[in-house]
Amino acid sequence: MKNIHTFHNLSKEVLCHHLVTQKDKTLPYSFSLALHTNEEKEEILKNRHHFSQYFPQKKFIVANQTHSANIHIVNKHEELGWKSISSAIKNCDALISNKKNIMLTILTADCVPILLFDPIQKVVAAVHAGWKGTQQEILFKTVQKMKKTFNTNPKDILAGIAPSIGKCCYEVDWNVAKYFKDVPDAYEEQHPKYMLDLPHINKLQLLKAGLYETHIEMSKICTACEVEYYFSYRKENACSGRFMSMIGLN
Ligand SMILES: [Zn+2]
Repeated sequence: MKNIHTFHNLSKEVLCHHLVTQKDKTLPYSFSLALHTNEEKEEILKNRHHFSQYFPQKKFIVANQTHSANIHIVNKHEELGWKSISSAIKNCDALISNKKNIMLTILTADCVPILLFDPIQKVVAAVHAGWKGTQQEILFKTVQKMKKTFNTNPKDILAGIAPSIGKCCYEVDWNVAKYFKDVPDAYEEQHPKYMLDLPHINKLQLLKAGLYETHIEMSKICTACEVEYYFSYRKENACSGRFMSMIGLN
């Protein structure tokens, strides 16, 4: 693990630990961490082991992401989906926990990963939002769930919107853009295509949920533009590599 991306706002918080992995060409599959994309499992497990040895206290949680709006609350201090895919949390795209030393992880290559931290109630969340999850407002719903379950005040939440495909590179047809036609500045029309801005739409969901704009940090990194450092499904022609965004309480 040579390089990682971190957020300034979350880095100041001693109660939580977060990071976004980057490619490392000296490791198998450029340090992909995905078990579900048909690489040799042993090599991916080597990558995961290489990574987790830096965090001996942590139990890693992996979900079987399905572009749903399903949210799972992790209540136990046990590892799930890290050493085998069979124990991954089924059909789920957002994880929330108030347990210490649990690392909630999201795997992506262009979709938007979002990390959330409530320093008052001491709760963390990790969310996966591609266009389908964004359309289903999974991020807004995750904040609602934190409110309901842990009494989180959205004004306390710090958020990081991690590297994902940007408006510069995310060209879609009207059959996708149409779902966001009522969202301000959701896309730029470049007839007959539309350049969709998923990080911006997710930021709007956080504002709607009650977060302060000053508490939302955008990485402003496009995975397709920065394909040297991040896996990009689009740029790499349906690549199978995935990087990981994660957050956990210390
Ligand atoms: Zn780009």
